[in-house]
This record gives sequence, C-alpha cells and structure tokens, in this order.
Amino acid sequence: MYNNFQKHLQKELADIREAGLYKNERILTSAQGAEIKVSTGQQVINFCANNYLGLSNNKELISAAKKALDSHGYGMSSVRFICGTSDLHKELEKKIAEFFGTEDTILYAACFDANGGVFEPLMGEEDAIISDSLNHASIIDGVRLCKAVRYRYNNADMDDLEKQLKDAQAQRFRLIVTDGVFSMDGNVTPLDKIVALAEKYNSLIMIDESHSAGVVGKTGRGVTEQFNCRGKADIITGTLGKAFGGAIGGFTTGRKEIIEMLRQRSRPYLFSNSIPPLVAAAGIAMIDMMSRTNELQDKLHRNVEYFMKKIKSAGFDIKPSSSAIVAVMLYDAKLSQDFAAKLLEEGIYVIGFYFPVVPKETARIRVQLSAAHELEHIDKCVAAFTKVGKELGVLKMDTTLK
Ligand SMILES: *Cc1c(COP(=O)(O)O)cnc(C)c1O
Repeated sequence: MYNNFQKHLQKELADIREAGLYKNERILTSAQGAEIKVSTGQQVINFCANNYLGLSNNKELISAAKKALDSHGYGMSSVRFICGTSDLHKELEKKIAEFFGTEDTILYAACFDANGGVFEPLMGEEDAIISDSLNHASIIDGVRLCKAVRYRYNNADMDDLEKQLKDAQAQRFRLIVTDGVFSMDGNVTPLDKIVALAEKYNSLIMIDESHSAGVVGKTGRGVTEQFNCRGKADIITGTLGKAFGGAIGGFTTGRKEIIEMLRQRSRPYLFSNSIPPLVAAAGIAMIDMMSRTNELQDKLHRNVEYFMKKIKSAGFDIKPSSSAIVAVMLYDAKLSQDFAAKLLEEGIYVIGFYFPVVPKETARIRVQLSAAHELEHIDKCVAAFTKVGKELGVLKMDTTLK
C-alpha cells in the first residue's frame, strides 16, 4: 500500500526542491543568543531569531525555571480542567492580564493554539470576521474552523477595512483581526485608526501581539501602548515563544466573559496538555522583570535605531519599521539567497525571503534586532552587508565615501 503513496510523496518533495522552496534546518549546538554556534563549528552573530529581548538564555528566567522543577516537578500530565492547573499557571495568567491592562488570560501550549481556538467558540454563522490580508497562518487556520462570514482587507489599508466593515453590517457581530507587527515588513498595524473604525461600524477588535509584545511601545506593552489604546482591544493573543523568553506557550487575554467562554469551549485548551510549570514560572519571572525595569526595551529600541541609521547610510534600501524587524530590500529572489549565503560566510546569520513568502519583486533580507546585541555586533553586521553589497553590485562603489 505504501508504495504508491511513497512515490507520490517523493515526487512532491522533488517538486518542492526544484521550486527552490525546500526548507533546510541549521543545527545549533549552543544556547540561543546574539552569538551562536552551529553544527559546522562556525560561530555566527544571529540576526534571525525572535529573541527580541535576549531572554532565551536569561539567568533569572533559568533560575526561576530550575526552582519550579524542584517545587512543581516536570510535567502536568493533564489538560487544565481535569488536573493540569497549578498555582503557577494561575499566577502567570493574572500577570499577563496586568501587563496588557486586560481583565483575564487563558494559557495555551502555543499561540498557534490560541489563534486556532479563539474564533470557533465566539463567532457563529451570523457573525463576521474581518481579517488583515497579511495575518499569521494560525489566524487564517483559526478562522477556517469557524462558521462566521469572512472578509479580508489589504494589509493595514484603512480604506479597504472601512469598505469591508460597511459590507459586513448585515451580520450580528463583527470582529476585526490583525497582527500587531507584520513579520515580513516589520510594519505596525495602525491601531488608532482601527479603533476609530471599530467604533464607527460597531466592531470588536482582536490583535495578535506575537511580534509586538515586549517590543513595541515605550515599555514594551505592545501596539495598544504604542497608539495609546490600552483597554480598546477586546481580545489580545500572544506567544511566550518570542520576546517573552522564547521557550513555548501562548495566551489569549482580554474581556472577562470572552476568556471565561474560551475556558469552556476552546478546543486546543480543552483537549491539549497544559504548559510545564517550569515554563509558567519563567514566564512569571519575565513579567516581574519587565515591571521592574525597562532596560531591555530601551536597549532594543536603541539597537533598532542604530541599525537603521547605519544600514541606510551604507546605501541600502529598507522598509520603514517601528518594530525590531528591518527588511533590507534587494528585490531579486536569487540575489537575496546569494546575499544571505555570503553574509553567513562573513559570520552573519540572516534569512533572505522571496516569493511566495513575500510578494514578487520584493525579495529581501530580514534582520531581527535583539537586546542581546551589542553595538559591535551591529557594526559587524553592517560592515558585512556593505562588503557583500559591493561584491554583488547592490551598492555603488562611491557609497564608501559617506
Ligand atoms: C509566531 C507567531 C504565532 C505562533 O506562535 P507560537 O507560540 O510559536 O505558536 C502566532 N501569531 C503570530 C503573529 C506569530 O508571529
């Protein structure tokens, strides 16, 4: 039986390779950080992790996790509603709500699950979901699981959002859904305008803060802080797997009744294990740290500004960004791959993205800054970009004079 199926898979895999879309994994042999070691023995500076605050290998978080291992053991062996809820889970939920200025929080094994389990319990066939065209895959999948009528608006395009909201007036409830920061361009969703439209057209708002929590806003409280809209989002989802420590875990935080309903009806919550207590304990330590000091956010924001200034004056074209993601535009798919490979030879680890991950003719190198970076890391990065840029003819020779 497997024979035919095997041939079928082998052909599909070959097609993926031929299209240049095959994903290879680079193997790290060190902890995640600004400098990492890969299995070839090479040491590189890492500019492609979501380790925005440098917490993936933070001593305070590790120590909190170790303590919880001793006090609460390794695993919960249960879903939350049977016997998988520890005091640490409850405390972390409360702290996340305090962090975002919301009423309550529900934890998931990942934000993919939070998004997968948020729509179906809340929105029925009488309702409308109005979703940004560049929203994360987990939002798209979550929306597919529910019966609400679907509307889509062009990325961050408020005229189009208004048009969709007008079209959706016949439905009972409306929910606008958007990522806080879009991961390919690093642009921030225009939340102030979304709030105004939601008020005008009577809609709820959901934001996925996976790339913005801990990063955007003066104290890292995300896009609601950036646009002075705290309390205006009905639902916020996010991950513990990026700025918030980088391990695993997701959450939905927001209005009390919404969270209460999710605890009753959200399938990834009801039918999947709770996060290990050590992860909850590290999460608590992470939020405590952010409430105590703004050092890491400040350093990250300084690093982003520094990188943008340097890379621009080196002569590169970048997308405007107010997040920790900077897209260095090369426009050509093959060039983006050659460029990234040469940067790796120079000890700089970044990823080049091209169609279909980004629109045609917009191939780029995505640079992700971190509070773990020192200015000398960034200087090395810009120097390598400049060297490779000249080699590959992206930069004119005279930019050295600047
Ligand atoms: C990374 C990401 C997710 C998934 O988060 P996990 O916790 O890793 O499942 C969901 N939404 C957005 C916008 C993301 O960037």
